[in-house]
Amino acid sequence: MKMIPCIKCKADMPELRLTKYGYKVCVNCSTVSTKRGIPVTKGSGDHTWTETVIMEEDQYESFVNSTAKERGSSGNTVTFKLN
Ligand SMILES: [Zn+2]
Repeated sequence: MKMIPCIKCKADMPELRLTKYGYKVCVNCSTVSTKRGIPVTKGSGDHTWTETVIMEEDQYESFVNSTAKERGSSGNTVTFKLN
């Protein structure tokens, strides 16, 4: 696979990212392809489990905004980046 430098951090990235997807930056620098994983507790009582919901950055932001409104607080949602 042909590699080209990321215009931002100069790291190698597949040329396909540019030619096929139109990204000029690598995965690390791209915010467009950033996915978020949010642990969500489901169930009640003794039967609770945690599911990880994967969403795009923009979905994540509206999710955080809506849950913050529901809770009426600043919202301390624990999140992590997947890539
Ligand atoms: Zn980069």
